[in-house]
Amino acid sequence: MSYCLNPDCPKPQNPAAKKFCQYCGTKLLLREHYRAVKLIGQDGFGRTFLAVDQDKPGQPRCVIKQFYPQSQGTNIVQKAAMLFAQEAARLDELGKHPQIPALLANLASPPECRRTSITLWALIILASRI
Ligand SMILES: [Zn+2]
Repeated sequence: MSYCLNPDCPKPQNPAAKKFCQYCGTKLLLREHYRAVKLIGQDGFGRTFLAVDQDKPGQPRCVIKQFYPQSQGTNIVQKAAMLFAQEAARLDELGKHPQIPALLANLASPPECRRTSITLWALIILASRI
């Protein structure tokens, strides 16, 4: 299974081999590496997915954290961008500790992350301990 990361996607569950969501066109294979396979958590700041790194032998598991603001406002884009950057920096810092997952990639502003019609979102990829 391949899970579409667009929070507004009406049908996020795609067949495993797809590169783009068959319903909304969102890229499913991030940086030609990471594919979300299962939604494992959701809170007020966004969602967490179990993912695999398809570019490596054995396809190691990783975690995708997705941030998107739940409230709307005029400067929401600016605020959200700041929140994403802070969170990524914090996790990168924490990742140097052996008990905490390492930050594998910060996708806060690449093409994989984009503003959909309704929701602004950003992604970071973490090494999995699951
Ligand atoms: Zn989709």
